[in-house]
Amino acid sequence: MAGSWKDQFADAPDVLKSAPEQKTVVRVGEIAIGGGEFVTMAGPCSVETERQLMETAERVAAAGARVLRGGAFKPRTSPYAFQGLGLEGLRLLARARAATGLAVVTEVMAAADAPLVAEYADILQIGSRSMENYALLEAAAHTGKPILLKRGMVATIVDLLRSAQCLLSHGNPNVVLCERGIRTFDTALRNTFDIGAIVVMQQIARLPVIADPSHAAGRGELVPPLARAAVAAGADGLIVEVHPHPDQAWSDGEQSLTFAEFDTMMAELAPWCALRERHRAALETVA
Ligand code: PEP
Ligand code: MN
Repeated sequence: MAGSWKDQFADAPDVLKSAPEQKTVVRVGEIAIGGGEFVTMAGPCSVETERQLMETAERVAAAGARVLRGGAFKPRTSPYAFQGLGLEGLRLLARARAATGLAVVTEVMAAADAPLVAEYADILQIGSRSMENYALLEAAAHTGKPILLKRGMVATIVDLLRSAQCLLSHGNPNVVLCERGIRTFDTALRNTFDIGAIVVMQQIARLPVIADPSHAAGRGELVPPLARAAVAAGADGLIVEVHPHPDQAWSDGEQSLTFAEFDTMMAELAPWCALRERHRAALETVA
């Protein structure tokens, strides 16, 4: 007799729900990711200057974001591109947190850097290119900080859940999954946004699921509609790139929103978030 389709996720036993409504709530200060509130993380792709970061932090906070994003250690497609400010970037992020009350999410790229990044960040981001770096996952898990685990661009859902299992098995239950688009034959968008992955993970995994429409879209004008789709699919939150002057950004400017575009997106998402709230049980529970 054929097994259940859920058998394919058997390598990630602790990630799976053992009861339909079971859900991990990842707490970051006052913020409860997966706890019902829709949580938006926003900020520049890279931390560039104090002014750029402070201005962005203030504006995204005013628009309703709860978490400030910004890369200090940057994995870049080209080895000749800007690689991030490193420690100085972490210090600027901490300053922006102090000024605005936003929590901070930033990427850690190397196992050896995990303790340092954890000193400054509230959430450690594991980037797409690092999703299967098990030494990094172990080091990140051991910091005890909540972890935002982004799906690798050629990773299946099973692969992503397996990496989450690795974090859990190293004693860190506070993991947030992130769909950010995958590589397919289609090149119209930077990546193919896998809405189905959001739906499936909300149904089977106990961990919160957020979406990154920026890296999926690759173009600013496509970010708000993809964000709307993510909310309708049942995502618990978003991570979005915002920059004071996208045309001058040191990385990912073409997919970054201006402050005005971010304000509009947040305002237009509100009714969709209310709908999501009303249908939350259905979005998260296998029939
Ligand atoms: C980022 O968040 O800026 C980033 C590099 O994302 P990803 O790892 O999804 O490419
Ligand atoms: Mn980016």
